[in-house]
Order: sequence, then C-alpha cells, then structure tokens
Amino acid sequence: MGRFSFLRSHWSVFCALCIIGLLNNFPWSYSTIPRDEIGENLRSAHPGLADYSRFCDVKSLPGVKIVKVNETVPHEQELSDLAEKLDVRAGGQWNPSSCRSLYQSVIVVPYRRRPDQLKIFVKHMHNFLSQQGLEYSIVIVNQADEELFNRGALLNVGFLETEKILGSDKKNPSRCYVFHDVDLLPENLGNIYACTRQPRHMSVAVSSLRYTLPYPDIVGGALAVAVDQFRVVNGFPVSYAGWGGEDDDLGRRFKAAGLSVERFEADVSRYRMLVHKKAVPGEARFKQASLSEGLSSLKYSVLSVQKTALYTQINVDLSSS
Ligand code: UDP
Ligand code: MN
Repeated sequence: MGRFSFLRSHWSVFCALCIIGLLNNFPWSYSTIPRDEIGENLRSAHPGLADYSRFCDVKSLPGVKIVKVNETVPHEQELSDLAEKLDVRAGGQWNPSSCRSLYQSVIVVPYRRRPDQLKIFVKHMHNFLSQQGLEYSIVIVNQADEELFNRGALLNVGFLETEKILGSDKKNPSRCYVFHDVDLLPENLGNIYACTRQPRHMSVAVSSLRYTLPYPDIVGGALAVAVDQFRVVNGFPVSYAGWGGEDDDLGRRFKAAGLSVERFEADVSRYRMLVHKKAVPGEARFKQASLSEGLSSLKYSVLSVQKTALYTQINVDLSSS
C-alpha cells in the first residue's frame, strides 16, 4: 500500500468533498483596504477639503463593532418617534449638529412594492448612519409603472434627480452616491458610508450568500461611487429590464474607464439580507450594453416627489420612454 492508497480507494468521496468545499466556501481572492488605512483612504479621496481642521471627520471606528439587526416591522409611530429622536430633517436628511462633516453621502434605493422591508430598512439605516458622523440623505426611487423592474434605470434616476436638487458643491466636489438594495442591512459600524478613492463594493459578505463573496467582479447589492466616477461611465446601463446583469455591466464600465473596485475586509463589510422570494432572472441579463446607454439616454418622467420623515420618495414612470 503506497502513501496515496487512501485517496485511490476513496477517490470519489475525496472528489465529492472537494466539490462541496469549492461550491460552499472557496475564498475568492480579492484585495481589501486594511482597516487601519480606511481613514486615510477616505480623506485622500476628498482632496478639495484639504483643511481638515475645519470639519469633523467620521468617527474613528477601529476594529469590529457589530450592530444588532432587528427584522421586526416597525409601526409608523415608532418611525416618526425615531425621526424626532435623531433629529432627521424632512425628506430623510441628517447631519452632525456640532460640526460640518467631511463627507456627504446620498443613499439611493431602487424600489417597488416592498413596504415592510422599506420600514425595516429606514429604521436600521438612520440608527446606523447617524452614528458615523456623516452628512447623509436617503432617497427611495419607486418604479410606479408596471413594466419589468429596472434597477439600473431607477438608480440613474435617483442620481440625476438628486444632483438636480442638491446642485454642484464647489467646496465638496466628491459627493458620494451609495446605490443600495432595500433588503440589505449593514451589520458593522466600521463600514463607513462614504466614498473611498475608487468605487467601493460594500456588500462583500451577505448572510444569504453564507457571508462569502460569490465572484470577484460582483458590484451588486451596495456600492459607493463618487459623482465624477459615475458620470465618467455614463451611469448604469438601462436596457437590463428584469433581474440581473446591470450590476455586472457597471463593473465592466469601471474597468474600461480605468477604475478599479475597492472593498473593505469581509468582517467589516457584513450585511444581513431580509428574506424574499428569488426573482425570475431577466432575459437580458447576459447581454453587453453599449456605453452610449445610461445617464445620457435615460427617458423617464417623475410623477411626484414625497418628503416623508425618514426619506424622500421619487415616484417615477419608466414606460414613457
Ligand atoms: N426591488 C424592489 N421590488 C422588486 C424587485 C426589486 O424593490 O419587485 C429592489 C429592492 O431594493 C431589492 C433590489 O431591487 O433589494 C434587488 O432585487 P432583489 O432583492 O430581488 O435581488 P437579489 O437579492 O435576488 O439579488
Ligand atoms: Mn435581495
């Protein structure tokens, strides 16, 4: 009997174990920003704000600080009490009261008919973000027509409409957009919701995917992008109707534009995904869209804009194109 006799006699068991291991937990190699370099990376991504002493920086949150995720649906009263307690401005805007924040972030959420998830989301996010010392706002972009859901188009609308409202800020040209699914709840306060030097894929470790990155090029779920970077790639493609494809296409656009995608470490980038039925994959998900479609080609009409206590909701009709 040689050294590998066990393998020879049990090779099928061995192969099965390897395959199971690969499918479940293979740690795809991807680079991350070390935790102690996060602060410096964030600051250097905002060169227009060189005089840091005049601003308040984000709270330094070294190490892992896990926050509890509460999945019970809050009542309306609880939500309005929360807005009052945290001093959230109408439309879902918040800023630190004692100093001007270095970072201004807009959380844009593509949305249609998930009212319970929306309540859980806005409660969790305000509790979470108001501890990070950022200036932020939450914008929900609701697809009001009955066409196939179009995540890319909705996120583009959220970007364009918010830029119209906020206008360009010469003092802070690096406004940060965080494109964020409604069912993802960050679990670690060290996951700062501001833009780093390159676009940052934030939802690295998601509960529904066993907290493992499914493939290295993924940028879906939650993604932080600075205004100028999003404009350079013409935003999301808009012809991926139905589930899937638009996020991978944006990832290709970043590469083509010479941008690389950054990540924080997996234990910082942890998210709980609220349970939902898996959508039927869209027929268009494997195509490759032309760069000419995106922010510049988007046709839509805004039906109304509602400012609630915890968020701004843009109701949009995408079918009018
Ligand atoms: N979404 C929505 N209503 C829908 C479909 C999608 O609000 O009918 C939004 C919601 O923000 C959701 C995101 O689009 O989190 C991505 O869709 P989904 O959660 O189905 O994708 P998956 O988690 O399967 O990638
Ligand atoms: Mn989901």
